[in-house]
Amino acid sequence: MHIRPSSPHPRAKKSLGQHFLHDVNTARRIASLLEIGPDDTVLEIGPGTGALTRHLIAAAPRRLICLEKDRELAPLLKTSHPDVDVVLMDAMQAPWDRLGAACPGLKIAGNLPYNVASPLMWDCIARTPGFERAVFMIQKEVARRIVAPPGGKEYGALTVWLQAFATVEYAFTVGPGVFTPRPKVDSGVIVLRPRPLNLHDLAPAGPAELAAVVRRCFQQRRKQLGTILRGYIDESVAGILAADGILLTARPETLAVSQFLTLAKCLGRRFA
Ligand code: SAM
Repeated sequence: MHIRPSSPHPRAKKSLGQHFLHDVNTARRIASLLEIGPDDTVLEIGPGTGALTRHLIAAAPRRLICLEKDRELAPLLKTSHPDVDVVLMDAMQAPWDRLGAACPGLKIAGNLPYNVASPLMWDCIARTPGFERAVFMIQKEVARRIVAPPGGKEYGALTVWLQAFATVEYAFTVGPGVFTPRPKVDSGVIVLRPRPLNLHDLAPAGPAELAAVVRRCFQQRRKQLGTILRGYIDESVAGILAADGILLTARPETLAVSQFLTLAKCLGRRFA
C-alpha cells in the first residue's frame, strides 16, 4: 500500500475528544503491539488525521477499517489513504457482533477519545466475537483501573467487566507533550487479549446478568455484599457463594473476577 504522511492538524474539536498524536515513536510502538501479520484485518477507532493509521498500514495488514465520527476528517483520511476502508460513523454505534463475525481474528486499535473511552471499550471488548488483540491509548488513570488487581480503590466495574472478557496488560505511559492540543493528563497504552472460556462459566446467566451484578455491586462499593444483595440470597445461593469463598461480609472490591462470574451465574435473571 502507498503510505502518505498524515494530513496537517485541523482545529481540534473538544466535543470529539480530539488530541492528535504527533510523535512517530509512540505511534510505531502502538502499532507494533498489535503484532499485525499480512493476513490480518485491523480496525482503528478514531483515526483522526492518520497519525496511527500510517503505522498500521506500514505493517501491511490484509485490510484496514477505520471508524471516524468527524465529518471533516473522515473524507480527508479517505483521500490521503485510498486503500483504507474509512467509515464515517460513531464507534459507540458500531455493530461489534457483525464486525467480529465477518472478520475472525480482528485486531483493534485506537487512540481513544477520553470522553467515551470507557463505554466504548466496555462494548467493543465484550461484543466482538473472535477478536485477537486490542491496543488502546487512553487516559492513564483509566488504564490503571483496567489492570488493577482486587482489593484497592482502582478496582471497579470497568476492571471486572473487561477482565472477564480479556487478559489486560499495561504497556507504557505517554506524556501530554506528544499531542496537539496537549491534554491535561498522562495517557496509558493497554493491550487486551480475549479470554473466551469465561462465558461458559457464566451459564445459565449471560453478559447482561454479569453487567447488572457488576454495576450494582460497584454502585455501592463501600457496602457489604450481604447488604447489596439483600432479598436475592436464599439458602442455595448462599451455599454456592460460600463454596466459592465469597463472604457476605466482603466488600465488592475484594472479590476476584471469577467470583463475580459465580455471583452472576447464581443470581442469574433475577438480577438483570
Ligand atoms: N488517532 C488520532 C491520533 O492518534 O492522532 C486521533 C486520536 S483523537 C484522541 C480521537 C479520535 O476519535 C478523533 O479523530 C475523533 O474525531 C474520533 N472520535 C471521537 N469520538 C468518536 C466516536 N464516537 N466514534 C468514532 N470516532 C470518534
